[in-house]
Amino acid sequence: MLVTIENVSKIYDTSQKRVEALNDISLSIHEKEFVCIVGPSGCGKSTILKMIAGIDHATNGIIRFEGEKVNGPSVDKGFIFQDYALFPWLTVRKNILFGLEMANTPSALKRERLEEYLYLLDLEKAADLYPSQLSGGMKQRVAIARALCLKPKLLLMDEPFAALDPFLRQKLQEELLRIWKAENITFVLVTHDIEEAIYLADRIIVLTSSPGKVNDVISISMPRPRLRTEEHFIQTRNKIVDLITPLSVFQTSYI
Ligand code: ADP
Repeated sequence: MLVTIENVSKIYDTSQKRVEALNDISLSIHEKEFVCIVGPSGCGKSTILKMIAGIDHATNGIIRFEGEKVNGPSVDKGFIFQDYALFPWLTVRKNILFGLEMANTPSALKRERLEEYLYLLDLEKAADLYPSQLSGGMKQRVAIARALCLKPKLLLMDEPFAALDPFLRQKLQEELLRIWKAENITFVLVTHDIEEAIYLADRIIVLTSSPGKVNDVISISMPRPRLRTEEHFIQTRNKIVDLITPLSVFQTSYI
């Protein structure tokens, strides 16, 4: 098991308010799996991801990565933010190499990795451009290349395509599957887009909100590439919509 989340709860206690974000979550993520986490806004999706990354800490319970308790961030756990988080003053090349530079990686290895990921993410022609010269889709590709360059065992992605238009979003979803197969590592992606999750995932973790709890874990066995118009795809989407949509929404709308 690559990641185990054991009876994890998270309470944010600030001077203004106390929020019980997650309550008694237990999950496991297998090596080389593609897992998506879905749920209504505010149900704790990002919080789970940040705790696996070691950027945030559980109030109760334990998160393990390869059997060891997660105490902080590490290079084997890559993280992709929704807003790309690129360095605007660095070229694409320098952005991608940033982590390797920090780790004092030998020049030959840096060159090799740069070539590998410029090619894999189709960024060869953009190597000398700055983030401000790139489209949203290209910026997200640079962020993915930067994370993969460090050869993580796990890539955590927080709504990576949320800011992109629907056409580009679908294109990048296809590319992400290609990259996942090529890299042969574990992907965990948070999304509020149920179709995105069904298109991509081996398993979908569905959370309920206030506080976030695991509502269901759904295995998707449809072969890839998946067709969004396929009957089983639509049935799965309807099932997840039913799980996520609070009954009260229907109750109010029928009164
Ligand atoms: P999601 O990603 O599903 O939208 P989040 O994990 O961002 O949900 O947030 C879960 C809950 O925790 C929300 O109620 C949110 O307001 C709260 N929360 C998240 N981060 C913080 C924080 N740093 N301080 C206080 N409350 C937070």
